[in-house]
Amino acid sequence: MARDRFGRMINYLRISLTDRCNLRCVYCMPVDMVFRPKAELLQDDELDRLMPLFAQQLGFYKFRLTGGEPTLRENIVSIVERMAHTPGVEEIAMTTNGILLGRLAEPLAIAGLRRVNVSIDSLDPDKFRRMTRWGDVADVWDGLKASTAAGLEIKLNAVVARGFNDQSDVVDLARLTYEFPWQVRFIEMMPFGEVAEFQQANTVGEAELLETIGRSLDQPILLHQGALDGEARLYQLPDAVGTLGFISSVTQPFCAACNRARLTADGRLRLCLLRDNEVDLLTPLRQGASDADLVALLEAAIWEKPWGHGLAEQEVPMRRVMSEIGG
Ligand code: SAM
Ligand code: SF4
Repeated sequence: MARDRFGRMINYLRISLTDRCNLRCVYCMPVDMVFRPKAELLQDDELDRLMPLFAQQLGFYKFRLTGGEPTLRENIVSIVERMAHTPGVEEIAMTTNGILLGRLAEPLAIAGLRRVNVSIDSLDPDKFRRMTRWGDVADVWDGLKASTAAGLEIKLNAVVARGFNDQSDVVDLARLTYEFPWQVRFIEMMPFGEVAEFQQANTVGEAELLETIGRSLDQPILLHQGALDGEARLYQLPDAVGTLGFISSVTQPFCAACNRARLTADGRLRLCLLRDNEVDLLTPLRQGASDADLVALLEAAIWEKPWGHGLAEQEVPMRRVMSEIGG
């Protein structure tokens, strides 16, 4: 079991499968984003080598594939299949923009994927395009339909940016929970690297979003007395079949309950999303480190996981943008 020096059990790994993306969301990456050469990324066999170390030797059981856009990774279906067959792996989920799920949802579900978190910031085609710079929201709808047909559990993720999607869009997304049994989650924008200034100027908090939804639909009811479901605080609109989730990492951090680590696309273990501390696994892997060496490296890295982020002290992670880390 992997434990940090504060006594937190770390058993949830989010893996960025690629830094590449077929969109350029305004809050995530600059329009002229330069991606890493593929040779600098963790290869399939390197991932296959690390998975049993995490799942069997360190006690990680929950895995989320993300990116960049994870569906762009070559061999994504066979990667999921091998992960699902790794002893100790209990749950594989994916965070995706959904653009390619129309054709991938079914094979991924057959390979062992159980859940998808699909990012959709607006149902309005023009606003969706403005936020993603060129995305077509109809593709995401196709992906959602295919995911439903494939039996995948669905959550929606919407990052809210003032002046982009903080009014009618939030209301339209919340309204979906009357019809669909989904958790529609509103994510506070977090600051990273080159896009930090945009993010800090346009973040919208949970209280304001609740008020906007309450004014147009109904007052959402707090569920589970505010206890977090993963990272989200849950609410429900009266008579809705789905729920609303608020991920308020900036205004109401949940660092005390953090059980996660991140594997970046270029093979670094990142201990906190919002801090630049990372440990290089790719170099020792390529220099022939033994399993025992790698486990010792991972245990030492996890032990030193920072307590929490430093946004209140104006400490913003500067070395990477979100897509490289895996949100
Ligand atoms: N491309 C996939 C997607 O968009 O779902 C997976 C990677 S993306 C980096 C993972 C999640 O991070 C998405 O839900 C996205 O909306 C969110 N995200 C990106 N930049 C963010 C930011 N600055 N603050 C908060 N969430 C962000
Ligand atoms: Fe791509 Fe996801 Fe970042 Fe949007 S949030 S640019 S879809 S990685």
